[in-house]
Amino acid sequence: MATPQAYFKGQIVPLEEAKVGVMTHAFNYGTAVFEGIRGNWNAEDGRLYLFRVREHYERLAQSSHILGLELNEPIDRLCELTVEIVERSGYEEDVYIRPMVYLSSEVLGVRLHGLESDVLIFIAPFGPYLDIDKGARCHTSSWRRVDDLGIPPRAKVTGIYVNSALAKSEAERNGFDEAIVLNADGHVSEGSGENIFMVRDGKLITPSPSDNILEGITAATVVELAANELGLETVERPIDRSELYIADEVFMTGTAAHLTPVTEIDRRAIGGGVPGPTTLELSRIFFDVIRGKSEKYGSWCTPARVRVAS
Ligand code: PMP
Repeated sequence: MATPQAYFKGQIVPLEEAKVGVMTHAFNYGTAVFEGIRGNWNAEDGRLYLFRVREHYERLAQSSHILGLELNEPIDRLCELTVEIVERSGYEEDVYIRPMVYLSSEVLGVRLHGLESDVLIFIAPFGPYLDIDKGARCHTSSWRRVDDLGIPPRAKVTGIYVNSALAKSEAERNGFDEAIVLNADGHVSEGSGENIFMVRDGKLITPSPSDNILEGITAATVVELAANELGLETVERPIDRSELYIADEVFMTGTAAHLTPVTEIDRRAIGGGVPGPTTLELSRIFFDVIRGKSEKYGSWCTPARVRVAS
C-alpha cells in the first residue's frame, strides 16, 4: 500500500505530519512559488518516470529569484529528494509532485524581504486532468490574465493561482472543461493551467512569453518533438481569439493536462470537433516519451522505484 511522504523542514516525513501554522506568511499572503512534476507510471517495467525534474527545479529557482526568495537547497539535492520521496511513497500509478519555496515566518505584514523561507515537497496520486481522448470543450474567460506589471506570470507564484481558479471555476460552472484566458490587450494567453497551441497551414503557433504566459516545460517539450520528429516549425506570435476558431487544430499542454486536444471553443467546433491528425501524432510521440519508452529522449525521464517481483 502507498504511504505518501513529504520533505518538510529539512526531513522526509509521512505527509500527514507535514503541517504549517495558521500564521505562516505564505498561507496569509500567497507568498510562495511552486512547481508541479509528473511521475508517469509504466506498468511494463514497473517504474515511475519523473518528467524533466531538473527543468522544474530550475524554473523553481527562477521563480524564487524573481520574488527575491532564498532557495536554500541545491538543485541536485532537490532532484535526489524527489526521487527518494517517490520511491518511499510506493505509488504504482501516475503521481504529481509538488515542490514549493514558501515564506515560512509566522509574522504579520505584507512584504517579501527579511523573512524566512523553507522548501517543501509532497506527492499525491494524480490521474488524467482533462479528457485527452475526447478533447476539451473550452470557452473564452471573462477574466484577464495577470500581467507582468502586476504579478509576473513567468514566476509560478501561489497567489497568481487565484486568477487561474477564477477562470477555471467560471468555465466549469458554465458547462465547459477549461478556460482560454486573454491577456489585458485581448490576445490569447493560455489556459487556467496550460499553454495553448494552434495548428495553421502546417505550422504550430503559440503565444510568446511576453503574452503573460507561464513558460511551460511541456510546451518546450512539444516544440522540440514537433521539430525533431515531424519537421514542424513553431512560431511564437500574438493570437486573436477569433483566429483560434478557424485554426485547423488547437491543443493545450501542461504537466497536469499532458497534451490535450481542444475540440470546441465558445460553442464552435475546432477542426470538425475531433482531435486533429497533428495533435494525435504529437500525442503518440509525447506519451511514449513521458513513460520512458523512448531511448532518444531518455534523458528527460528519471526512473524511480523498480517494482520488486512478488
Ligand atoms: N500555464 C499555467 C498557468 C500553468 O499553471 C501551467 C502548469 N504548470 C502551464 C502553463 C504549463 O506549464 P508546464 O508545462 O511547465 O507544466
